[in-house]
Amino acid sequence: MPSDVTTYELFIDGEFRESSGEERIDVEFPYDGEVWASVPDGTAADIDDAVTAARTAFEEPEWLGLEASDRRELLNEIADTIDAHASELAELETRQNGKLLREMEPQMNVLGDWFRYYGRLTDEIGDGRTVNVENKDGQMFNYVRHEPYGVVGAITPWNSPLLLASWKLAPALAAGNTFVHKPSEETPVSALRFAELLTAETSLPDGVYNVVPGAGATGAALTDHGGLDKLAFTGSTAVGREVAKKAGENLIKVSLELGGKSPNVLFPDADLDDAVNGVMKGVFAATGQTCMAGSRVLVHEDIHEEFVDLLTDRAGDIKLGDPRDPETEMGPVAFRDQWETVKHYVDAGVEEGARLAFGGEMPDELPGECFIQPTVLVDVDNGMTVAQEEIFGPVVSVITFGSEEEAIELANDVDFGLAAAIWTQDMQRANRFVESVRAGTIWVNEYRVVAPNSPFGGYKDSGIGRENGPEGLKEYYQVKSVWYDHAGEVGDPFSLDVE
Ligand code: NAD
Repeated sequence: MPSDVTTYELFIDGEFRESSGEERIDVEFPYDGEVWASVPDGTAADIDDAVTAARTAFEEPEWLGLEASDRRELLNEIADTIDAHASELAELETRQNGKLLREMEPQMNVLGDWFRYYGRLTDEIGDGRTVNVENKDGQMFNYVRHEPYGVVGAITPWNSPLLLASWKLAPALAAGNTFVHKPSEETPVSALRFAELLTAETSLPDGVYNVVPGAGATGAALTDHGGLDKLAFTGSTAVGREVAKKAGENLIKVSLELGGKSPNVLFPDADLDDAVNGVMKGVFAATGQTCMAGSRVLVHEDIHEEFVDLLTDRAGDIKLGDPRDPETEMGPVAFRDQWETVKHYVDAGVEEGARLAFGGEMPDELPGECFIQPTVLVDVDNGMTVAQEEIFGPVVSVITFGSEEEAIELANDVDFGLAAAIWTQDMQRANRFVESVRAGTIWVNEYRVVAPNSPFGGYKDSGIGRENGPEGLKEYYQVKSVWYDHAGEVGDPFSLDVE
């Protein structure tokens, strides 16, 4: 192995530990294909070690005995640590998946906000509530406790590694759980470094956050493990179904953040320049590798021609290049197999009758094997493969419609329901769209905006449950209803007391 390759191990119980297995995973910089890090491909025994450490930590007074306000302090410490290392973490993200440093730096600069937000919620709703009940002359009262599930098993994808992990870790810690994280095999380094930083620079007890890198089999070993209390998964719908089956077998709670095929809908009264910007933001930002990608653009037939001219011009101007260069607007896709997937879909679109208006090729002048031009497919029918399946690359399918009813029908005519957007000046129309489209997030005259306090998640095949907002915290605590009878008089032992 070349000397400039950094070797990482598993992170369990507050320290780096060697894997029980021999297999390792090379981490490449997708810009030029250079291997720069190596991590173990975690085994089922490694997963078992991590779950045992997380279980032990969960039961220790050092963790279980923390007050909500202590956990808030800890989450604030984590946020401060992220702030202090934001540049380093951003660089790690970029080297793993090739996303632009100019996107990852701002992302890491706001990552701490997720921990601060859930720190605040720890005070507000994490401690339960009292319930008014009609009772024995005031002699009985009821209250609700919010208690952590226990050990959370979390599996994450490669497109926004630390952001998506934090959408789980911050509410899980706020509610008092411990955590075993299996990051993507494409992007395992940032989670390992993150765990190391939290251990060194915050009061996080050992064993509360454990990281076992590895491929799909490592993830499957985690979902198979009988010692978990909750599974949290972000990834493809196909793997999400497998994770849900395992949660069903083990009868534990599961939340799933899955794929999307989101419609971005343009009406003739929209500000067209703004809408084109929104389309670019929706599908070419992050090289199209976002779950919420606006990969189906539905355009009213009256503005279709003008829109396609504008979009192809803008796509042609996008500067591809080194993701570390602040001038670069689109980097490579994250790894070679993903490039093949994207190319396969472009070819399938053309075979099924779509017209390639721009892109679809690997540019000659760039290094590595992972660049693909921003790609515009027009004359797409909503039934085509490119309009129904998630591509996860910079490929937009343009579909026309003639009426608002048709636009809504097309928007909903897909298995996914993650996000949608409408571009119009008519707010009554926007409202009809908001009410009729079955998706977890809807933007009006915007695209690709998220916040710690706003819930995010999917309808239909895009998932179960929500991340972010108070809804995201609810995914991580049990509810216990407690009754106190001060009168000490049991009523009729043969009937249910309904107070
Ligand atoms: P993926 O489903 O292939 O892999 C996700 C994770 O699951 C990886 O860590 C992988 O190693 C693991 N895994 C694979 N097989 C497994 C198995 N049998 N059991 C347990 N774990 C297994 O997804 P990906 O290619 O890494 O990521 C892209 C997908 O993620 C897209 O579908 C995208 O839409 C989705 N995504 C969704 C959201 C959201 O919030 N809804 C956010 C980002 C990405």
